[in-house]
Amino acid sequence: MSTISDIFASMVFNDSVMRERLPKETYKALRKTMSEGKTLPGDIAGIVANAMKDWAIEKGATHFTHWFQPMTGITAEKHDSFISPVDDGHVIMEFSGKELVKGEPDASSFPSGGLRATFEARGYTAWDPTSYAFIREKTLCIPTVFCSFGGEALDKKTPLLKSIEAINKQATRIVRLFGVTNVKQVNVTVGAEQEYFLIDNEVYKQRRDLIFTGRTLFGNRPPKAQELDDHYFGSIKPRVKDYMDTLNEELWKLGILAKTEHNEAAPAQHELAPIFTDTNKATDHNQITMDVMKKVAQSKGLVCLLHEKPFSSVAGSGKHNNWSLCTDTGVNLLEPGSSPFENAQFLLFLCAVIKAVDLNQDLLRISVATPGNDHRLGAAEAPPAIISMFLGTELTDILTAIETGKTYDGAKSSYMEIGVHTLPNFPKDNTDRNRTSPFAFTGNKFEFRMPGSSLSISGPNIILNTIVADVLMEFADKLERTKDAEDFKAELNDIIKTTIKKHKRIIFNGNGYTQEWRDEAKKRGLLDLPSTPDALSHYTDKKNIELFARHNIFTAAEVHSRKEILLENYCKVITIEAATMVEMAQKDILPAALRYTKELCNMINAKDSCKIELPCRAEQTLATQLATLSDELHDAIIRLECKLKEASVIIAIDKKAEFLRDQVKEHMAILREKADNIELLIPCNCYPYPDYGTLLFSV
Ligand code: ADP
Ligand code: MG
Repeated sequence: MSTISDIFASMVFNDSVMRERLPKETYKALRKTMSEGKTLPGDIAGIVANAMKDWAIEKGATHFTHWFQPMTGITAEKHDSFISPVDDGHVIMEFSGKELVKGEPDASSFPSGGLRATFEARGYTAWDPTSYAFIREKTLCIPTVFCSFGGEALDKKTPLLKSIEAINKQATRIVRLFGVTNVKQVNVTVGAEQEYFLIDNEVYKQRRDLIFTGRTLFGNRPPKAQELDDHYFGSIKPRVKDYMDTLNEELWKLGILAKTEHNEAAPAQHELAPIFTDTNKATDHNQITMDVMKKVAQSKGLVCLLHEKPFSSVAGSGKHNNWSLCTDTGVNLLEPGSSPFENAQFLLFLCAVIKAVDLNQDLLRISVATPGNDHRLGAAEAPPAIISMFLGTELTDILTAIETGKTYDGAKSSYMEIGVHTLPNFPKDNTDRNRTSPFAFTGNKFEFRMPGSSLSISGPNIILNTIVADVLMEFADKLERTKDAEDFKAELNDIIKTTIKKHKRIIFNGNGYTQEWRDEAKKRGLLDLPSTPDALSHYTDKKNIELFARHNIFTAAEVHSRKEILLENYCKVITIEAATMVEMAQKDILPAALRYTKELCNMINAKDSCKIELPCRAEQTLATQLATLSDELHDAIIRLECKLKEASVIIAIDKKAEFLRDQVKEHMAILREKADNIELLIPCNCYPYPDYGTLLFSV
């Protein structure tokens, strides 16, 4: 039996493998490139490629691929084999430095949001040496960025790397201002908790809605769902445990620190949390995790559903993005310290996040805007679509005391002078257990809870990094202008007080699911953007285009293209869902209703012609109800088809998205209601699909 430490990262070409397998000089040169984020010189690339190939072949790999993250949100691969023919008819295994550093996949089938029209159809991929190569399914995967030949990013990694650089630059300035000169770099750390559903493959195969759209488009709430709270953290069933064991092992081989696993609120719902790491790796790891989750499920006769809302009226799935800043000397900048000096710095970073979130509610909402997530946000079981921040009452009281110059009860001294007094003790693990806040401070990190379960965490982190970098830049500019220590202290005090005063409206510690909060948020002037088209309409606002340009994250053309891609995706998803509903209703549900009505009528007839008088109230009532519902279902199908036709001729993508949201979704809901009422009336063996109870309790 191999131990965990034997298998851990055994399929990763990581630092220790590099050190072991590369000539000293090459290793040093590669490390230097990695820390500076530059491209690798050709001669060095050749040596690295060769070492990588030998290592991969020893591990059983036959192919290599540039592994990249196009705008579709999933990862893309194009496999090439290592084999290369030689004169005598044999083959040798080859992998050149050029092949390692750059690839040229055909970009034309990936979304570009109009960028390609003006540039070449081809794109290229370039190795990102800050994320390690790894082997999966006999293929050496090389993490790469993906760009058009004009240089525009066509992927989710390029802007993420740029945003990491932006926040590193600004945060390092701040840390230096506090006299910490040995810090060379500030990293963003991320831990992404992943929720998912696990169901049996046999029931899955019987539902075309799950196959085509990842969620059920029909179905009634089962008599028992999550009301007894017996699933949450409950004991894990053997089949699920077996799945989790294999999953962990596969992830560990890839160097992914899968750590905790437990049952979630809904039946068949579970969660996996990794140990946090730097954002780039955390993002790659989460993408790999989602893929491995699906494949391991397949191998066990299970299906892993990553959709945000596979079942209506049952809790949906999210992905909590835990986010913090850490210096290369190991100091967590969002952790309150024990000295006045550390706390002044902590308060400044805290204020930067408060201001960034308040000023950029729109961007945070945009970063999680997908049609699947629209079912979750604001559904009284997931964070509302309104952005607010939870700080906990203690920390909020401290901020209020600072703002007003009044005393804080917990403070030892009568009032708090920043940079002179230490922070009064407050419970640091005071985490928000009711889970209703979209953005919660949990002691030493922020937890952004709005991302949906299937989302790449790249988008939310690009936004978080950029908006916080922007505020840090403003703070650093101000503080760098100060003349001496006294002046610095005065400016620091002013920044913190002013920020609290101006942006405290974003802080909310109560229950975010209530109508009272919605009303209150409106009074405070907070943004409420319930749907994806609502959110995306703000993407190209002047403020946002300027923000991205200031930090070299996106050009205006790139923002426009990304908005276009997201709107296109919204339209495609809703259209596919509606078309799937039409097909299922027309071909399965209506025929089932009619067949059973006929059966009832036959029974009524049989009873009629019987010598003895038999009551048939049940059959008559049911037949009448079903006949009426069948007519209504038929009408609903036709109306939804008409709406789909209307949508298909709308050219402007934003108008199309709005039409789908307002009109098509409304008729989808009507159709569903009719079908679900039919499901309630006909026997299980006459209904064409396994019901919610069967799906949710299938494992
Ligand atoms: P909960 O379920 O209460 O949110 P978990 O322990 O399940 O808590 O998850 C917490 C997540 O936060 C883990 O993925 C963990 O690695 C991550 N995390 C902890 N500290 C940090 C940090 N400093 N930066 C980023 N992520 C962190
Ligand atoms: Mg969490």
